[in-house]
Amino acid sequence: SPLVIAIDGPSGSGKSSVSRAVAARLGLAYLDTGATYRAATWWCLHEGIDLSDAAAVVAAVRAMPLAMGVDPGREVLEVGGADVRGDIRQTWISEAVSAVATNLEVRAELRRRQRETIDAERADGFSAGRGIVAEGRDITTVVAPDADVRILLTASEEARLARRARELHGEDGAEAVAATRDQVVRRDRDDATVSQFEVAADGVVTVDSSMLDLEGTIGAVLDVVTR
Ligand code: C5P
Repeated sequence: SPLVIAIDGPSGSGKSSVSRAVAARLGLAYLDTGATYRAATWWCLHEGIDLSDAAAVVAAVRAMPLAMGVDPGREVLEVGGADVRGDIRQTWISEAVSAVATNLEVRAELRRRQRETIDAERADGFSAGRGIVAEGRDITTVVAPDADVRILLTASEEARLARRARELHGEDGAEAVAATRDQVVRRDRDDATVSQFEVAADGVVTVDSSMLDLEGTIGAVLDVVTR
């Protein structure tokens, strides 16, 4: 029967790389829900929407022509035909995304689309019914509380900052970490109303990646999946 794996975690926990690798190894589809929030933010800005106009943001997101691939080996992310894979990782999106993601009607709309993707993979989508790894902030609790395996991937703030610094600046020296700290701390705070990743919900297994490298974290997650 199809396997649904839900993985939540804060930024810098390594959840994207880990989830993608786990999906690839198990032959499952992969859903990065953070990318849907980032794409929605890109679309609103592209459409010239004032992000403080909640009603306009909701209307734009409901109409967003999003095409998202689920092959973990080949990322496809298009909005209105534009390839936004590069843009959505830029600072101007990271700094604006919380304003869009904290809108409850936006969350309902994106949750509906995420759920559709998960259900399609449960049936006969890309994974031919084998299943999907879905990753984000509220997947274990809100989007897929019925997942077969639910994991909260955590890491110490120090480890998360070092990882983000390497992603953003290519190194984790003191200066790069300091430059990253503001961004990470601010987004954590802006996200606080929607992300409950401090403690695992009932039935959710915590995997702490602070002392693990990528390969070690993938192994720890696969251990939880197969036990
Ligand atoms: O995981 P990533 O850093 O790409 O997520 C970007 C943003 O999208 C988060 O900071 C958060 O505001 C939002 N998000 C969310 N719920 C999710 C996934 C992401 O609110 N399930």
